[in-house]
Amino acid sequence: MQNLWSDKDAKTYIRTYARQRVNADLALRVYTTRLLGGEPRLVLHGGGNTSVKTVVKDILGDPTEVLCVKGSGWDMGNIEPAGLPAVRMEPLLRMSKFKTLGDEEMVNAQRLNLLDSHSPNPSVETLLHAFLPAKFIDHTHSNAVVALTDTANGLQVSQEVFGKKMGYVPYIMPGFDLSKKAMEVFNQDPSVEGLILINHGIFTFGNTAKEAYDRMLNCVTKAEKRLATGKKTVFPGIRLPKKIARVADIAPILRGLTAHNGKPLIFDFRTSKEILSYVNGKQIKRYSQQGTATPEHVIHAKALPLVTAVPEVGKLDQFRTQTAKDVQKYIKTYGSYFARHNAKAKPKKTKLDPTPRVFLVPGVGLFGLGTSKKKASITADMAVANVEVITASESIGTFKVISEKDRFDIEYWSLEQAKLAAGSEKTLARRVCVVTGGGSGIGAATAQAFAAEGSEVCVLDRNLKAAEKVAGPLGGLAIACDVTNDKQVKSAFDIISATFGGMDIVVSNAGAAWQGRIAEVDDKTLRQSFELNFWAHQNVARHAVRIMTAQGYGGCLLFNTSKQAINPGKDFGPYGLPKAATLFLMRQYAVDYGADGIRSNAVNADRIRSGLLTDKMIKSRSGARGLSEADYMGGNLLGREVYAQDVAQAFVDLAKAEKTTAAVSTVDGGNIAAALR
Ligand code: ZN
Repeated sequence: MQNLWSDKDAKTYIRTYARQRVNADLALRVYTTRLLGGEPRLVLHGGGNTSVKTVVKDILGDPTEVLCVKGSGWDMGNIEPAGLPAVRMEPLLRMSKFKTLGDEEMVNAQRLNLLDSHSPNPSVETLLHAFLPAKFIDHTHSNAVVALTDTANGLQVSQEVFGKKMGYVPYIMPGFDLSKKAMEVFNQDPSVEGLILINHGIFTFGNTAKEAYDRMLNCVTKAEKRLATGKKTVFPGIRLPKKIARVADIAPILRGLTAHNGKPLIFDFRTSKEILSYVNGKQIKRYSQQGTATPEHVIHAKALPLVTAVPEVGKLDQFRTQTAKDVQKYIKTYGSYFARHNAKAKPKKTKLDPTPRVFLVPGVGLFGLGTSKKKASITADMAVANVEVITASESIGTFKVISEKDRFDIEYWSLEQAKLAAGSEKTLARRVCVVTGGGSGIGAATAQAFAAEGSEVCVLDRNLKAAEKVAGPLGGLAIACDVTNDKQVKSAFDIISATFGGMDIVVSNAGAAWQGRIAEVDDKTLRQSFELNFWAHQNVARHAVRIMTAQGYGGCLLFNTSKQAINPGKDFGPYGLPKAATLFLMRQYAVDYGADGIRSNAVNADRIRSGLLTDKMIKSRSGARGLSEADYMGGNLLGREVYAQDVAQAFVDLAKAEKTTAAVSTVDGGNIAAALR
């Protein structure tokens, strides 16, 4: 692994942070922590930690010996001094005399000794850092090091590779006991440059930030060199059928099968040469079912991925039936694993969602699952790291990790259980919402409104730049799509399925107004309007239904019709006729797919103040709609202006109305001629 230390960068860190009154020790601690954290083969998402022992002034201005150690909730890759809270050294050291210390007591004791009460909780490995005397300590879950220790004879192999320069600590769950054990191993030979934690990771020590970092990189390189001597073909593969199904067709099936209590998960797909060789291996059901490479992964990814059958083109029904059985079996097995260990647990634990978090799909790749796109991608990153570690372990031996009991202790760690109660989920979290014509006006406001409710959003627009501008700040997906082109709609929806696993809410919003007196308007105009204001809705709805029925747990179609569908305006035939057809299209979908749990509703908006029309368009009176300014100002029963956000809110309300289908909501400030019934 390449050593990225640069004297020049180190100096820049010292200089930059000095301006914020951060001392050189902490500035360099930030620098190498980021170097380590920027490398996914060393740490992933909040994993790993570092520390420095230094002197800072406390609130009274007295110089105080402290340990600045990574705080929980921070990632090493983008850490700041605030992410390395200072804890008084002296009380921490005195705790080494304790015989036992529970996790909650330990967290409390660490918090009590913070110099700044606003700090995050210091890492659960704080005491380990404190009990070891080195000034700088680095800790990672290096894939290469973990791969060596995760073999049947992991200790022996590690000793061969690192020799007497490192100490060896048997597996113990992070916390007070591990800290004491690490201290004990260190005291047996205080000349060691670091510690190898079997089935967990590696610590390196240094008098300087550079020394600890160099030692980390040297050890990792040694481990990599040892692994490079392993077998080249690690996993003899199965014979695959000729035509493997596409990700876009498989994902909605898997997503439907893992929607637990009506709540779906978000998917994140990965594939590569290495992943394929792993998932196609003849013995995948052995090596993939041992547990995770480093214990921490179990919290995001669960210990065991689900290995599916090979999905073949034309045989997806079989694939679904088989996978449904596999998922049920997984849930049952997980239930008994929980019951078995919870019986002995004190206090009793709260059972976590029993559905798998990782799917390994032979011939295709892997999916990480999570309650949001961000969490799904964290799971997927961990699954990919597991593929790398297990492949490396199996190249030199047999992959073997901690016991099921140890795994349960991590998965049901009291500190993790405490997080369950915190933070309730937003109402439309875990839902994938697609908005057509989402690059501006009502569409943009709708994408924003659904994102605010916790949905993952996909913004479709003819104008990719406009779609990106809306989707970007929402962390959503932007796709260029002309909804009048059925092929483009299909391909956009396939991208969405492959990206998120499927979709739940589709707001068919794209539209535009054409006008002309109905006997005089040319056919071309009328047909053009039908293309966008009717056929595009049909394109969008039918592809949405295709995916929703593959998921099999319902869905929500929303159409932007118009008051024109009910109350025709003079010369607005070309606009109103297809919109009227779309209103009935909405009803037809409600009738034909109600039994599948697919709801279909519409919003009739009228005279939207901003969004659809800009002030400039109103002033120039050149808008295609040819309406006068007065029409926008209080020309309704309530005498209130209607905004794009009001229409967006109506879509959100209909999406939440689980028992409502075939309904039309009016958002027009009150227009009695456009009222339904
Ligand atoms: Zn660790």
